Parts: sequence; structure tokens; C-alpha cells
Amino acid sequence: MIERNESVRCTLPDMLMQTESASERNPFIFARKQLDEAAAIMKLDPATHELLRWPLRELHVTMPVKMDNGCTKIFHGFRVQYNDARGPNKGGIRFHPDETIDTVRALAAWMTWKTAVMDLPLGGGKGGVICDTKSMSSGELERLSRAYIRQVGRMLGLEKDVPAPDLYTTPQIMAWMADEYSFMQGNNEFGVITGKPLAIGGSAGRGDATARGGIYCVREASEVIGLNLSGKKAAIQGYGNVGSHAHKLAAELLGMKVVCVSDSKGGIYNPEGLDHAEVSAHKEAAGSVTGFPGSLAVSNEELLELDVAVLFPAAMESVITGSNAENIRAKIVAELANGPTTPEADSILYSKGILVIPDLLCNAGGVTVSYFEMVQNTYGYYWDEDEVYRRLEKKMKTAFRSVNETSGRYNVHNRLGAYIVGVGRVADAMKLRGWI
Ligand code: GLU
Repeated sequence: MIERNESVRCTLPDMLMQTESASERNPFIFARKQLDEAAAIMKLDPATHELLRWPLRELHVTMPVKMDNGCTKIFHGFRVQYNDARGPNKGGIRFHPDETIDTVRALAAWMTWKTAVMDLPLGGGKGGVICDTKSMSSGELERLSRAYIRQVGRMLGLEKDVPAPDLYTTPQIMAWMADEYSFMQGNNEFGVITGKPLAIGGSAGRGDATARGGIYCVREASEVIGLNLSGKKAAIQGYGNVGSHAHKLAAELLGMKVVCVSDSKGGIYNPEGLDHAEVSAHKEAAGSVTGFPGSLAVSNEELLELDVAVLFPAAMESVITGSNAENIRAKIVAELANGPTTPEADSILYSKGILVIPDLLCNAGGVTVSYFEMVQNTYGYYWDEDEVYRRLEKKMKTAFRSVNETSGRYNVHNRLGAYIVGVGRVADAMKLRGWI
């Protein structure tokens, strides 16, 4: 009982305070600033602009979950459907102790522009649950995942809204969610969620798709600035699914030397390079990359400022800010995380001549292969890994070129270029549908 009361006291007031709060690091404020800037350049009409500043729909849910100790704990969560003018809402579900409605709104907005930048026939959405997965058992996570779907399931569906994994959610969690939804519908509806394990309709190549898409972008970017990446140094912040795969693929596909990686506990540095298989095995055994034999300890902040050719922020939002952007030394910043760079930092990096591959493009490999998964689920016919990689590479190259060309045409940084492409496509769809 005590636990349940604590949960109610701790999370509910925080959640309610988020609406339109003016917190300095509020990602939704940043997302709107980015949109406003693009809207001014594009001369977007006021009604279109105003509509795009808001999610079309959002659901706030409260979930009782039986914990292993016999108590019932009350959790809170959200699902935001930002804009579905171009197709069903699409976007991951995050399980995080600091989740807020404004973070989910920002991420849902970014998904909307991201699917449009990739020219996928999808809209944008996002989900979040306030919870600390690190302190939960597998049984507790399963009951929470099922409870979430029982609450938000009414707004999901292959034609309405299709979630996927994100921060601290896994293919296993997607499997529980797809199962719960299938029972709610009375038949198997695996296409309602992507990032599933292969055995129940997942796509080949979805596991490393986000990192792989980012690596394809870095290759394109290196050609634009005439930088030979072979043997050059890279640093990666974050060692979850995306960061770890980026480590492997930066070495394998680009021939780069990854000298520094980190997770929430801290970073490790070795100027001679870090071996992916060894670091992964250490993380698996020790629960963190920290303490890896033969490496020096560095902080997450120090990692960002290292003298490397490519910096991959692959963890949280708002890590490159007005306070540290001046110190970034990388030639290319490849945003595998969502929202790692604040608007103030964007201007600083641009003035320093650093090429930023914005999240809307750089981490879009994940949602692109999620879309392939939806297509395969609909057809009931599955592609092999080579086919997925081939289609992904083509999509990433096309999107990279259209963003790069647009940034050049408007003489703006790449994030604005990506916004102009993405927002423009959403605005066109809304106009054609007669919304505006
Ligand atoms: N969570 C990923 C993202 O932020 C993937 C979303 C998806 O596959 O729908 O792009």
C-alpha cells in the first residue's frame, strides 16, 4: 500500500505540471522553436503553422500493476498522435523514469517530420510510460506492457497508429504488446506494432536498422565534405541497441576507429580503438561499459568534446547545448538519438562549420525498416536481410540528398533543411485533404 501511495504522490503532480511549462530544457519548446523557424523560412500560412504546433490527439493513462512483492503500483503513461495527414501515426514507446507528456509530444512531432523526410506513407506518434525498467523484474515489465496496451489499444491499429521500440523497450516488450492487442481484437494482429521478434512477424534487419541508416548517412556526408573516414576516430554516446550497433557498423562499414563509447554510468576511452565484440561482452557481464580493461574513464560530457572525426550522440535529448557546443571538435555530428542538440547549439555548430546530420534523417533507418515490417506483415511475405539493407540504403541516400540539396538551396543548416522537406510534405497533405 505504501508503494502505491508513493507512486501517486511522486508522479501525478509532475506530469500535470508539464503542459506548456517553460522549462529551459523542455524538448517540446525546442521542437516548436525548430518548427517556427522553418515555418518563417517556408512562409507557411498561419493556420497550417498553428495546426502543426499541436498534437492532433493524445491519451493520458493510469495503470495498476501487480508487483512481485504483492503490492499494486500505479503507473502513468501517454500516447500522442501528432499528425496523421500522410498516413497512420508511427513511433516508439519509451519506458523512462523521467518521461513527461511534453517529451512525448516533442518526440511525436519529430516522428511526424521524420516519416515525411523519409517519404514514408506514415504520420507521427509516440508513447511513454513513467517507470524505471532497471528496478523491475521481467514479470513486472510484462504486466506493465500489457496494462499499457489495454489502456491505449483503443487508439492503435494498422490503419491508425503503430508503435515500436524506443528507449528501454525491447522486441520482447513488443511481443507482449502485440499479443495483448491480438487478444483484445480476437485475432492475431501482429502488424499493430513493429520491432517484434522475427518469430512473430518481425523484419530481418530491424535490429540494427537505426544505426545502419545513420552509418549510410555518415558515408554520404563524408563525400559531401570530402573526408576520407577510413582509420579516422569516432566517439559514441550511449550503448543501448543503437549505440552498440553503431560501434560495430562504424568499424565494419566505414573502417573507422571507435575510440570512446559510454552509457549512463560513464565512458571509456582508448586512443588505439575499442573492439566492439570485447566491449559488448564486458557490458553484458558487468552491466556497463565502464571498467573495460585497458581503457581510461571519461565522463559523458568529456566524450562529446573529444577530437574525433565523427561524434554519434546515441543516448538522450539535449546533450549538446549552448554551454558545450563551442567545444565540439568533431567534423560530423551524426544524431542517432532524438533531439540531442538544442536550437542554440545548432546555430553554434553551424557557425563552426560542423556538419550535423539531424535526427530526423540520421536515425530514420529504424522507422524505415519498421515501415518495411508493416508492409511485410500486410503481405504475409518476408524479405531476407540483403533485401532489407538494399531498400534501406536506397531510402537513406534519397532522403540525405533531398535534405542536403534543400539546406544548400535555402542556405540553412541541415536540421532546418530537414524541417523544410518534412514540414512541407505534411503541409501539402493537409492542404490536399482540405484541412486547411
Ligand atoms: N523509436 C524509433 C524512432 O524514434 C523508431 C520508431 C518506429 O520504428 O516506429 O525513430
